[in-house]
Amino acid sequence: MKYLSTRGHEAPQTFSEILLGGLAPDGGLYLPQAYPQVTADELEAWRKLSYADLAFEVLSRFCDDIPAADLRALTRKTYTAEVYCNARPGDNTADITPLRTLGEEGGAPLQLLGLSNGPTLAFKDMAMQLLGNLFEYALARAGQELNILGATSGDTGSAAEYAMRGKRGIRVFMLSPHRKMSAFQTAQMFSLQDPNIFNLAVEGVFDDCQDIVKAVSNDLGYKARQKIGTVNSINWARVVAQVVYYFKGWLLATSGPGQKVSFCVPSGNFGNVCAGHIARMMGLPIDKLVVATNENDVLDEFFRTGTYRVRKSAETYHTSSPSMDISKASNFERFVFDLLGRDAAKLARMFRDVDTAGGFDLAGTAEFERIRAFGFVSGRSTHEDRLATIRDLSSRYGITIDTHTADGVKVAREHLAPGVPMVVLETALPAKFADTIREALGHEPERPASFDGIEKLPQRFEVMPADAGRIKAFIAGHTGL
Ligand SMILES: *Cc1c(COP(=O)(O)O)cnc(C)c1O
Repeated sequence: MKYLSTRGHEAPQTFSEILLGGLAPDGGLYLPQAYPQVTADELEAWRKLSYADLAFEVLSRFCDDIPAADLRALTRKTYTAEVYCNARPGDNTADITPLRTLGEEGGAPLQLLGLSNGPTLAFKDMAMQLLGNLFEYALARAGQELNILGATSGDTGSAAEYAMRGKRGIRVFMLSPHRKMSAFQTAQMFSLQDPNIFNLAVEGVFDDCQDIVKAVSNDLGYKARQKIGTVNSINWARVVAQVVYYFKGWLLATSGPGQKVSFCVPSGNFGNVCAGHIARMMGLPIDKLVVATNENDVLDEFFRTGTYRVRKSAETYHTSSPSMDISKASNFERFVFDLLGRDAAKLARMFRDVDTAGGFDLAGTAEFERIRAFGFVSGRSTHEDRLATIRDLSSRYGITIDTHTADGVKVAREHLAPGVPMVVLETALPAKFADTIREALGHEPERPASFDGIEKLPQRFEVMPADAGRIKAFIAGHTGL
């Protein structure tokens, strides 16, 4: 299996060659030269597999340069009931991503796929935990080290830290805006005592943190010397790890071959639903892929009208589903590449237009006509919709969902079809978004037992000025390089 760049210029790479990287050198994103196909018989045979062994079956088709025994050991180490232990009472923890039926709506079951039972209570753990083990394995094999630098306003940073803690050959330097995260998020990150995790609380806002990461990454000499890397959402291994739970969700929602299932995905950077697209291209019988956005509706606008118009930061709203507050969807290019019939030259022109003209327009073109053939539909949800949906599910089904999942349920209900199960991906647990749960329901969300009293644990962090030079010096002083 070889990988090519969506912008067409680079020589094909192996999985191991692209594992630790992000963008291709030509600015494109990596995709496999062809999607491996899974037959109906293979799918039926997979019903009896554990999540870890299902992950092995799916991943082995994409990373054939890792010996099978090693890959199986990595998936078995990653996908355990001990790591994914935060499921609601009554859910089957052994499934890793348990499927819960809410009720019958529109003539078919409306279901939740629990992707948020890992250490940070959000779906990013599904891929990031595997990434931690893959990185450690690949670095040891190559005799290398990696220093991960990132900026976070909460979610991504904690998932990366919990994935990389204690890993040999890896250090994490995570910048966050000092005193601007919730007490819960701060405690989640800062209570980690692992010596390879460095929490840098920057005196500034999130944009300052991001600017520092950019400044450090643009200093190519420093970056190479200090072996700086990132774990952003365009990393191919993250996307492919997410493909697995579409298979698991389909297997849990069906009882026999050929049955169709729709998935609704609360979306921001398009990484999650891109994995659904890939599962569908591999032959998984997916009916619809429903893209749910919040008020930041750049993706909904595209799937409704064919116009892709990225937003300026002043037009990007801070919402109560903050992990979907994006102005530009970094993984979207992967899907557009397939939509264009993999015409890399055309794609490169269009994404140059994104940088220079703020977007592109496929309205009225043959390409846009094909969107429905790829299963895509969309919708948007607002703060009022979230509150109403959280209240409705609480009273109707006795379950509390988080704000992002509420966006998903709201939009899923606009695309129900008789006889087709609608599976909404649960991308976070409500304990992470207590303010909005309190606003909707008038009480605190339940908290998994492992998080009791987390705010009282000792915290380990450094307060730093918003100064790239000082951050560089700190990193250099702690890498020994
Ligand atoms: C990251 C995130 C999303 C958005 O996922 P993308 O892959 O960026 O589309 C949705 N919900 C939650 C809770 C997240 O953390």
